[in-house]
Amino acid sequence: MTGNQTLIKRDSKVLWHPCTQMKDHETFPIIPIKQGQGVWLEDFDGNRYLDAISSWWVNLFGHANPIINAALKDQLDKLEHVIFAGFSHQAGIELAEQLVAIAPEGLTRCFYADNGSAAVEVALKMSFHYWRNLGQTQKTKFITLENSYHGETLGALAVGNVALYKETYAPLLMDVITVPGPDCYFREEGETWRDYTERRFALMEQTLQQYADSVCAVIIEPLVQCAGNMRMYDPIYLKLLRAACDKYNVHLIADEIAVGFGRTGTLFACEQAAISPDFMCLSKGLTGGYLPLSAVLTTDTIYQAFYDDYHKLTAFLHSHSYTGNALACRAALATIGIFQQQAIIANNQQLANSMAQAAQRFNDHPHVAEVRQTGMILAIEMVKNKLSKEPYPWQERRGVKVYHYALSQGVLLRPLGNVIYFMPPYIITEAQLFHIADIAWQAINFAVQD
Ligand SMILES: *Cc1c(COP(=O)(O)O)cnc(C)c1O
Repeated sequence: MTGNQTLIKRDSKVLWHPCTQMKDHETFPIIPIKQGQGVWLEDFDGNRYLDAISSWWVNLFGHANPIINAALKDQLDKLEHVIFAGFSHQAGIELAEQLVAIAPEGLTRCFYADNGSAAVEVALKMSFHYWRNLGQTQKTKFITLENSYHGETLGALAVGNVALYKETYAPLLMDVITVPGPDCYFREEGETWRDYTERRFALMEQTLQQYADSVCAVIIEPLVQCAGNMRMYDPIYLKLLRAACDKYNVHLIADEIAVGFGRTGTLFACEQAAISPDFMCLSKGLTGGYLPLSAVLTTDTIYQAFYDDYHKLTAFLHSHSYTGNALACRAALATIGIFQQQAIIANNQQLANSMAQAAQRFNDHPHVAEVRQTGMILAIEMVKNKLSKEPYPWQERRGVKVYHYALSQGVLLRPLGNVIYFMPPYIITEAQLFHIADIAWQAINFAVQD
């Protein structure tokens, strides 16, 4: 007996939600969701919400997707989970082989974890341990970019740089080397993304030159710093970084957790710079938004440095109880299957064009400093002063006003501070994109009053 579901109109008092000041919900109650279908979420009062942010960037092909549902039902009757040390299973095997087949060249080994932050921890530990196995024990540091985000467990938080998440916990975090980033929002008037990005790379080059001997890896979000307000830069940065990492004997970790699986217009963002990182972290869209799973893809060179007789103690030590969960692997296989059977990337190109058209008019809005886009991510920078780009003070919480207004109109937007963004599932229609933009327009007008 699971209780009468129609009674669940309110959230439970025992629940503590992520990334939330629970007191806020005295005024705006949390919304229990009864069901999802395609781009729509429906609550217990019959209200529908268009999921314009893919439920925190994970959902690629809609809620209750029939293909993924069928795969999961089938998997459920075969194997739900098995210890992944000493054992393996078909979904885990197939997924690993498919991932290395579709990933940038040279990434030939696949290590599973169960969420994005854990994948980042794995990549950091693997990089450090690789150098240690080679006798380079002085390599203990990581280089990260200003405004980057890599998750919120302590290691992942340490290599991130968004103050909101990091500041409070700073005393608990390892030291990292932080380099000013290529965020093109700050380019000069008339300067191209490419010129600005290239110019900013000089700071990374200097840092590598100075610290390479003590550095294991540079970790980076390719093309879009998503949690850092959807800030974007040109692929040239990745190209230059790949060359510099090779030159200075430092690993390159590409955190494609948010941008992987078609978000930026290519299957993986690294493709736009035609580079292969030493580690690629995947999660979020990996299972189509169904189940927690992550993978770290790496090279044979890395793998071989761990491969030795047991007594030499070179083996990689990292494990999660749910490593390689069979249901999650199967959801991921079904998701990759959709990419292979349908022309998703080409179709996204059209959707991205429609999204650009739908958001065109925001350029002229008196409180919008920039509309920027990379593939299926479009961001609108809401500011107090359009000319000086002076932001609204964060205490005014204008983005929250956008959130509440849009929700009241049946669209789920969840601005990052004052940045409103569209990051919809790939099954969205052109008409729905225009609808989202209409509601966002109204919501911004509402939020900038007085
Ligand atoms: C979301 C995210 C993570 C963390 O993933 P979780 O599954 O939320 O732990 C790491 N890196 C990037 C770039 C992300 O967007």
